[in-house]
Order: sequence, then structure tokens, then C-alpha cells
Amino acid sequence: MKILVLGLPGSGKTTQIDKIAETYGLKPIRMGNILREIASKEGDLATKIKAIMASGELVDDVTVAELIKAETGKVGDNFIMEGYPRTTEQVEMFDPGFDKVFYLEVPVEVLKQRMKGRGRADDLEGAIETRIRVQKEDLDTILNCYKAQLVRIDGTKNIDEIFSQIQENIK
Ligand code: AMP
Repeated sequence: MKILVLGLPGSGKTTQIDKIAETYGLKPIRMGNILREIASKEGDLATKIKAIMASGELVDDVTVAELIKAETGKVGDNFIMEGYPRTTEQVEMFDPGFDKVFYLEVPVEVLKQRMKGRGRADDLEGAIETRIRVQKEDLDTILNCYKAQLVRIDGTKNIDEIFSQIQENIK
């Protein structure tokens, strides 16, 4: 089973992905983590990716599509993905063929409140607004690409309610 989880920063993706991965024995694949790991090494690719990530821009489509293709090739057909794809070009270059796409829907005002409470260094007020705005554009694009497999979940509910709703749709 191949699952994609979509949602803006603060929507609860990480929590739900961990629960789904454990319950269904799926390998979590997180694009941001793959890129952070490469950025922590040495070499031209690392330097390039580090600079782009620091700027908040997106890494180029060819690079991320190649990386994700290699990663999915290693894990087989049971995974849960976060952070890929983010552009229609990426979908065209490499589409993993998701069985289900979950979108954790949370109003922007609620997200801002949640993230202020979280107190992470990259959650400062100005940065929150920017990250939400930039990621909202990506998200709308991707929601459009996956209409056929899309399940919208009310992300304002509590963790267990959200998880049961997801489970109902995996059965
Ligand atoms: P994330 O951990 O998902 O917030 O990703 C952190 C950073 O990695 C983003 O701000 C982008 O610079 C880069 N990134 C993650 N996923 C992608 C992707 N699918 N395409 C391009 N850049 C990405």
C-alpha cells in the first residue's frame, strides 16, 4: 500500500504518519528528511541543497524526483510519504502511484495558533506566515493532481478521532 499524507505545517501530519506507519507496517518516507540528510554531508549536491533549504525555496524538481525514485525503489510497495510531490512537474517526472491520498484540513488561523504554542525556532511569527503561504500554493497544486485518490480529513478533531477516520478509509 502506498499512501501520501498532505497538510500545511502544523496540521498534524507527523503524528498521523507515525501512527499509520506503525499500524499498517508502512515505511515512512519524508522528503524533507532525505534532503536534510544529504545537506549534512559534503560535496556539491550537499552545498546546493543546503543553500536552497536555508532560503525556504524548493529544491529543483529533477533532483527531488531522482532522490525519491531511488528511495521508493529501495523500500518496495509499502510506504507512507510526506513532502513529495510538491509541484506538478514532480508528479509528471515521478508519480509513485498512491493508493490513497489523505489531506488533513485545518483552517489557517488554527494552524497559526498551534504553531505559536509549539515554540520551535522556525515557528517564529513572520516565518509561520511565510511557510504557510508558500506551502499552501504547493498544496493546492497537488490536491488537484490527486482528486481521484483524495480523502479529506477534518484535522481540527483530536488525534484519535482523526486516526479512526483515516483507518475507516484504509479498510
Ligand atoms: P519540509 O521538511 O517538508 O518542510 O522540507 C524542508 C525543505 O526541503 C523545503 O523548504 C524545501 O526546500 C525542501 N523540500 C522538501 N520537499 C521538497 C520537494 N518535494 N520539492 C522541492 N523541495 C523540497
